[in-house]
Formats: sequence, C-alpha cells, structure tokens
Amino acid sequence: MKKTKKRSFVVIGLGMFGGTVAPALAQMGDDVLGVDIDEGLVRKYANRLTHTAILDARDEVALREAGVGNFDVAIVAIGENLEANILASMNVKALGIKEIWVKAQSLTHHKILLRIGVTKIIHPERDMGLQVAETLHTPYVTDYINLGSDQYLVSFILQEDMLTQGLDKFVSKNDSGACLVGAMRGDKFIDFTNIIDITTETGDRLLAIGTKEQLRKLSGLL
Ligand code: ATP
Repeated sequence: MKKTKKRSFVVIGLGMFGGTVAPALAQMGDDVLGVDIDEGLVRKYANRLTHTAILDARDEVALREAGVGNFDVAIVAIGENLEANILASMNVKALGIKEIWVKAQSLTHHKILLRIGVTKIIHPERDMGLQVAETLHTPYVTDYINLGSDQYLVSFILQEDMLTQGLDKFVSKNDSGACLVGAMRGDKFIDFTNIIDITTETGDRLLAIGTKEQLRKLSGLL
C-alpha cells in the first residue's frame, strides 16, 4: 500500500486548543514542534512532542532560529493576544511556510487573516457550536463532517424497524438523493458496495453523504 507522505507541523501557542492539537498529531507519528512564550507550558509538553521551543512568536528572528521555516504546516493557536496571533501568522508566512492554519476570534480578525493569505481560519467555539446544533436538530444523527460545497458525511443511528425490514428495502426506498456509503459497527467499517448481502445489527451507525436537505430527507425515512 502506498504510504501517506508524512508532514511536519509547528504549533504556536500551547493553550487548550494548541495543547490538544500538538500532542494528538505527535501521537499519530507526526513531527511536531510546539512553541509557547510560557516556559511552564512548554515544559509540560516537552516529552509529548518531537521538539519544543520557548519563544515569543512576534519575533520573526527567534522563529527562524528555532527552525520554524523548515516545517510544512503552521498552526497558530494564540488566542487572546490578537497582535501576537497576527504577527505570528505573518512571521510563519514570511518564513516560507505554505500551509498556515490560524485560530481566529472575531470577524475583523478573520478579515485580517484573509488579507495575510493564511490557508485556513478556524473558529473553534463557533464551529463546535454549529456542529452541536446541527447534530441535535437532525433526528438520529450522532456525528457529522462538513466536506465543503454543502456536502456532509453524516453518521445515523439505525432504528429498530430498519433492522427488521432489512437494509436492501430501506435502500430501495431511499429517494432522498443522499448516498449511503457504509456503516460503522463498533470500530469496524462495513462497506455497502454489495448491499444485498449485508445484515444490520442494533447499534450500527449508518454513514451517508449528501447535502443538508438530502440528509434531512433521509433521516425522515429512518
Ligand atoms: P485556549 O482556548 O486554546 O486555551 P486562548 O484562546 O485562551 O487559548 P491564550 O491562552 O491567550 O488563548 O493563548 C494560547 C497560548 O498562546 C498560551 O499558552 C499563550 O502562552 C501562548 N501565547 C500567547 N502569546 C504568545 C506569543 N507572543 N508567543 C508564543 N506564544 C504565545
């Protein structure tokens, strides 16, 4: 099997957000440099990350000397200090990092980051809030991923009557336009390529892809 090319990451700001992203990437085997101005925080993460550096990310020279320009991806996770967040984003860009993800706090901040030309702007509280509302609003949905262009991958809980009527019957009456791709049984993925032979069990989660409209219609069929 072809191996995924490993990428290296620099995470600037090891608060709740950066301090979650950085060790999670390192645990998946990625090369991660964690940076923070707070010595105590850097020490806290020292043995969970590949490299760490105590520095002020407003200082481009300090970032260069720490080798930040050699990393493939930068995640700027400085929160409250807007000036530091913006300068850190500009600095990693000046150091030649092509992919830059930045945590933003406001619409004005978002606009400034767009001007700087960062790759992705994250609003963790807003995005999580929307995700929670969407999940609560749509019956039986346990989780979803926004794929962009109004397409979502959604996980539905299978209902009792669906178990009894059989998956193939359910599939044949699916006129929602959403595409059923498979199911999760515990941590095992069941491929729906050959749907006739598939039996469903209590606790299975059905995976479907479609627009919000199509997925709402599909959840109405469950
Ligand atoms: P979170 O919600 O992720 O905890 P937050 O939104 O409250 O974060 P802060 O705590 O202000 O944001 O910033 C996150 C981290 O960024 C902190 O650990 C802080 O020490 C670090 N930080 C702030 N300014 C700088 C800077 N100039 N250089 C490097 N790190 C910085």
